[in-house]
Amino acid sequence: MHSFDQARQKVIEVVAARRRTSGSELADIGKAFGRILADQVVADRDYPPFDRSTRDGFAVRAGDIAGQSITLEIIGEIKAGDTFTGAVGPGQCAQIMTGAAVPPGADAVVMIEHTRPSKSRVVIERSIERGQNIVRRGTEAKAGQVLLAPGARLGYAELALAAQVGQHRLQVFRRPRVAILSTGDEVVGVEDKPGPFQIRNSNGVALAILTTLAGAEPVQLGNLPDKHEALRAGIERGLEADLLVLSGGVSMGKYDLVEVVLRELGAEFFFSGVAIRPGRPAVFGACRGNFVFGLPGNPVSTMVTFELFVLPALDILGGTAPRPLPLCRAKLAAPVRQTAALTHFLPAQLEWNDGEPRVCELPWQGSGDIVALAQANCYLVVPQTKLELAAGDWVDVLPRRGAF
Ligand code: AMP
Ligand code: MG
Repeated sequence: MHSFDQARQKVIEVVAARRRTSGSELADIGKAFGRILADQVVADRDYPPFDRSTRDGFAVRAGDIAGQSITLEIIGEIKAGDTFTGAVGPGQCAQIMTGAAVPPGADAVVMIEHTRPSKSRVVIERSIERGQNIVRRGTEAKAGQVLLAPGARLGYAELALAAQVGQHRLQVFRRPRVAILSTGDEVVGVEDKPGPFQIRNSNGVALAILTTLAGAEPVQLGNLPDKHEALRAGIERGLEADLLVLSGGVSMGKYDLVEVVLRELGAEFFFSGVAIRPGRPAVFGACRGNFVFGLPGNPVSTMVTFELFVLPALDILGGTAPRPLPLCRAKLAAPVRQTAALTHFLPAQLEWNDGEPRVCELPWQGSGDIVALAQANCYLVVPQTKLELAAGDWVDVLPRRGAF
């Protein structure tokens, strides 16, 4: 059976090798958050476009200020946005504000805090080096420089950059469409009243949100009973999307028919089962030219396996490189012991105490326990190779997507 690393690697390998190029569309900058850039963003001019003062103070000639308490003549005032026509000569300076253009002749800006102005003169109290408190034209970017390449994920910094260079419409890849289909005779809709032994379809909600967080578009196809014909028809419909995610029906039970039906439809499986808990029965395959994940139905299994395996597939289908798992290290607050030789993902709470990351396992009843998961901001990773961990050990932690 694949380890979770191997299974992830398999997903990345297969999806990257078989991905069809996605089409692209134009998006207004206000609607482009989270999208993947299909074109370049290029600097329309030098940045900064002029020698920019980074301080409120006086634009001076550094060579004038050899000693302490030098008095200079003030020839004018330059606010941000001003066009100043003068030049600073020997013994002169100009009052200048943050963001204003440094005038010709000046080569440094003295902070206002280091000066004593009086009417048309100012005493400079400290010496200064050439270039201090100035960002030279073109040092952030040169006109024509490629600032963002195709495949860039458009977050707030990337979109601020696009805004800065005037690119208010961006060519972005079409979002992959993800069909979400749950299975189970016991499952009813979230707005329905369950019978005494029925449960509501929480997986449909979780999977749609995880899909959206991944930058893809969920297509809700509801729930299917554990009946052969109904499953077959539903799965065929789901295969029309770019990717099909099923929940439930992949374990070893008599009514776990998802794999059976997929096989009948000609599916090829790249893995069937991964050495993790929760999530061990997860399967990944391709069918009729599209990708399909069969995730186990227990809600925590469904969510963990989506994060581990479906997310990298959606990154690649969306036109970008798969994001690495955002694992970090934290100190274990209390001992943890597991017995099954699998990699465990336990709901846990990550905190920073006295500057140190500490992680604490939360009590939980296993992979059906969404109550515990909703209290957790991360998963504590117990590796297959070291199932007993002591308080104070440094361990891997996987932040829960969206929790930070
Ligand atoms: P399965 O993987 O089909 O064996 O399902 C395992 C368990 O997960 C079921 O017994 C249900 O309790 C739960 N489950 C299955 N489907 C869903 C769903 N759509 N939403 C919430 N829980 C589910
Ligand atoms: Mg089931």
